[in-house]
Amino acid sequence: MGTVMVMKFGGSSLADENRIRNAARIVIAAAQDESEAPVVVVSAMGGVTAALLDAADAAEKGDSAYRAAAAELGERHRRAVRALVRNPRAADGMIRRIDKTIRELEDILHGVELVQECSPRTGDLISGFGERLICPILAGHIRDQGTDAEDVDAGDIIRTDGAYGRAAVDFKTTDSLIRRHLGKRGPVSIVTGFVASGPDGAATTLGRNGSDYTASIIGAALNARAVEIWTDVDGILTADPRVVPHAWVIREISFQEAMELSFFGAEVIHPCTLIPVIEKNLPVYIRNTLNPASPGTRISGDAPPNGRAVTGIASIDNAAMITIEGGGMMGMPGAASRIFASVAAAGVNIIMITQSSSEHSISLVCRENEACIAADTLRKDLSDAMASRMIRDIKVSGALEIIAVIGENMRGRVGLSGKLFSALGDAGVNILAIAQGSTERNISLVISGKDTETAIRAIHAAFIEG
Ligand code: ADP
Ligand code: ASP
Ligand code: MG
Repeated sequence: MGTVMVMKFGGSSLADENRIRNAARIVIAAAQDESEAPVVVVSAMGGVTAALLDAADAAEKGDSAYRAAAAELGERHRRAVRALVRNPRAADGMIRRIDKTIRELEDILHGVELVQECSPRTGDLISGFGERLICPILAGHIRDQGTDAEDVDAGDIIRTDGAYGRAAVDFKTTDSLIRRHLGKRGPVSIVTGFVASGPDGAATTLGRNGSDYTASIIGAALNARAVEIWTDVDGILTADPRVVPHAWVIREISFQEAMELSFFGAEVIHPCTLIPVIEKNLPVYIRNTLNPASPGTRISGDAPPNGRAVTGIASIDNAAMITIEGGGMMGMPGAASRIFASVAAAGVNIIMITQSSSEHSISLVCRENEACIAADTLRKDLSDAMASRMIRDIKVSGALEIIAVIGENMRGRVGLSGKLFSALGDAGVNILAIAQGSTERNISLVISGKDTETAIRAIHAAFIEG
């Protein structure tokens, strides 16, 4: 069908009627370019997914506030239809459809209230309602503006395993479903991001922020010319703009650098986004719906070097460090593999690992809310080594931050870590642990959460502004 352009609009770009109009204008302009067919992926309206999860929480606790929340969601989407769809028959049809969806949501929430339990499976079903509500509205508005469009439920095209909350994609089935449903030129397809279905057809999701990933899965399956992620900033910035207000847009960045930044907390793209497109070498653009004239960031396999050692800084908050220490551990064969197997079996995701032979310790850094389960499992699984004093102690410290300093040109730069430590030392920030990626593209540091802003600003000043 010629070239395809996948365009994804995030919740911030669909937060109200005016923003939806803006997004539609961008889609319509792309559709009018004969040489390229847009396929559009949408997130829920800003704040809706969080409201759905809060409603599920309330229902589980027997708090009837979920009813008001569902009614409010219905009203917000009906208001959007009234503002965006002028044709009265089309608008009435859409409002009936919204009412039906909201009744279904209320029934599910009522079920949760009755059994006072929201299983991960039900949580996935509930959290996907936002995308299912907004998708037909954007399609209806685009039709109202004279461009043919149809809404597509990603439950029909993205197949995952049944791991609710963060399902893994079955690419073989998914790719052929995508080509079958979206591979022909016709009306502009508007696809729900984030949602998918498991092998039994039940609703699953790709995890919070997963719409970016939906877009890249579709882009790779259709061999698109590019994937555009439309959001509320001009591109990937050198640091989180809420921490460093004068951070600037990185015009060109490599796949690996962007992937590391997103893995270490730059939420502008979901960490999995680049996986499907790297293989196909499809560029990804980050663009601003509120400033479409700006070229944004181009993420690609051929990004020219930017002349700086450090490309960007990202960070993960609410981290905790589990330190396993004991002189006997260094001579204990398989100690590391036992430790990793134990935390993996507990289902805990380890973000960073450091080992210190002088202090005979191994530290694992994970999210704070997973640290207790990880430490308890370790104490149980390593009880023999603790009884024989090979391992002396397993300690947990929380309220930490992981800061990642990322750059393709960091490789082989002598003195870089020294400069990093003195920048932080001068700013009065104490470093609790350090790890360097084997590709030398990343140095990650663990610090106390209260030092986050000071540390990021000091690193930005020394390596990016300097
Ligand atoms: P969307 O609703 O479009 O998915 P998100 O809120 O998920 O948008 O992501 C965009 C936000 O990511 C920005 O508004 C910004 O506050 C935040 N952000 C954090 N780190 C960065 C970064 N390095 N570059 C750009 N944005 C960042
Ligand atoms: N709406 C979903 C979320 O808030 C997915 C997304 O925005 O990408 O997590
Ligand atoms: Mg997002």
